[in-house]
Amino acid sequence: MLEVRDVGVRYGERQALRDVTFSVEPGELIAVIGPNGAGKSTLFKAICGLVNHEGSVDVNGVHCHDRVDRMDVAYIPQRNDADLLFPITVGELVGAGRRRYRRWYQRATAADRLVVAGALASVNLAGFENRSLTELSGGQLQRAYVARALTQQASVVLLDEALSGVDHPTTDELFDLFERLSEAGTTLLVATHDLALARRRFRRCLAVNGTLRGDGPPDQVLSVGLLDATFGSGGDDALAH
Ligand code: ADP
Repeated sequence: MLEVRDVGVRYGERQALRDVTFSVEPGELIAVIGPNGAGKSTLFKAICGLVNHEGSVDVNGVHCHDRVDRMDVAYIPQRNDADLLFPITVGELVGAGRRRYRRWYQRATAADRLVVAGALASVNLAGFENRSLTELSGGQLQRAYVARALTQQASVVLLDEALSGVDHPTTDELFDLFERLSEAGTTLLVATHDLALARRRFRRCLAVNGTLRGDGPPDQVLSVGLLDATFGSGGDDALAH
């Protein structure tokens, strides 16, 4: 249902990612691991069409040419500080997921508001519509972004470092949510540099550093040799040393 073939991304002269190929079944919950600068965000941006790429991305059998073809994919960026500077409410953030269903001049309908309320309830944020984003904890903010993906009715959700900087109970709470979504058929890819977490909670890991270094269960992907290949060279961390 998600097929990534020979995907490569260049930023000017710099080849950030090359020859990435993998496929994902509906409802899989996958960790994308790699050090800072390894290309995890770049991979997500390529999948959802935010950066130009080589190779192909197919979602639910649709060969994606531009962003419109990728409406089934929701990308939840690393903590989005722009949203926090701009004083919007939880309802406005989550309601933005409905925009694809109406023309730019049309206002949100009662049906849209119902969908938003339902999405908020499913991430345990019922009644938060009128709160400002700035009032939310890190975990609540992540859940609000997931609610936006739900209102978009995305079948593939890409979460960039969603679990960074959140405490243990929040990680568990977010994970419970990811597992519920995955059981309901949503595919989730979660970028993380937390290897202990990847080992503990995921059944499949993609190791990325400039290209795909490993793909399989944590025991296999987090073996010493593969970790060396993933964390030992390339990436901004390695360049800094
Ligand atoms: P990760 O998400 O694993 O930390 P990124 O995908 O953000 O890695 O970055 C991969 C590489 O591409 C890094 O070397 C980074 O500096 C570079 N990079 C990312 N975004 C841009 C950009 N917009 N322009 C130029 N280089 C970029």
